[in-house]
Amino acid sequence: MFVTESTTLEERVAAVRQQVTEAAIVAGRDPASIEIVAVSKTWPREAVDAAWAAGLRTFGENRVQEAVAKFAEPRPEGASLHLIGQLQTNKVRQALRVVDCVESVDRESLIDTLQKEAARLDRIVPVLVQVNIARETQKSGCAPGEAGHLLDKISQSENLRCDGLMTIAPLVDDPEDARPTFAGLRELRDELGGAASLPVLSMGMSNDFAVAIAEGATHIRIGRAIFGSRPA
Ligand SMILES: *Cc1c(COP(=O)(O)O)cnc(C)c1O
Repeated sequence: MFVTESTTLEERVAAVRQQVTEAAIVAGRDPASIEIVAVSKTWPREAVDAAWAAGLRTFGENRVQEAVAKFAEPRPEGASLHLIGQLQTNKVRQALRVVDCVESVDRESLIDTLQKEAARLDRIVPVLVQVNIARETQKSGCAPGEAGHLLDKISQSENLRCDGLMTIAPLVDDPEDARPTFAGLRELRDELGGAASLPVLSMGMSNDFAVAIAEGATHIRIGRAIFGSRPA
């Protein structure tokens, strides 16, 4: 599905942008309302700089140590870094050195620790609540029924701001099979207050982002379609 050997990163970014635009138009949405989060995990800083040169400004990393090593000074100018992987409470302090948004908030103890560290830094940290819509046992994310409680807890945390929800769809061959997961996140968001209070839906990856856009994704997390297959 991804032609990476014979293309440049710039061409791949252009192709992803084109597909985003097409999927948005089909869905009757403004293409500019969809943010590409370039998932640079496993790739070196040079790859981040190349993606930045191609115009991308939002990046995603799933490991704290790697994120710190790659995004510590000098930071790519104007870049924003999202943490998209599971976050252990003992790594929160380190994470907040470089991370602008934590997309993987899935439990109370993490909210407590994030609040404490954000207060120490005198920062407001934007977060997303990660929900395990497909109820896959091996996946992180809270159960759909717990999300409301976590949102309440975040709203009581002075230094945190919840912008929306995030989910990871099951790995499927046919992207259409991920549609119920994406629709499920959107429906949950609508039950929990709607787009006015929770504008962000982070869902969709390289193989299924067009379907995610059709279901309302505002942030798509794209690794392989931009950077190529990850090194083993
Ligand atoms: C790796 C990863 C992605 C990107 O996946 P690709 O298939 O490379 O686009 C998106 N979201 C999360 C949470 C990831 O860990």
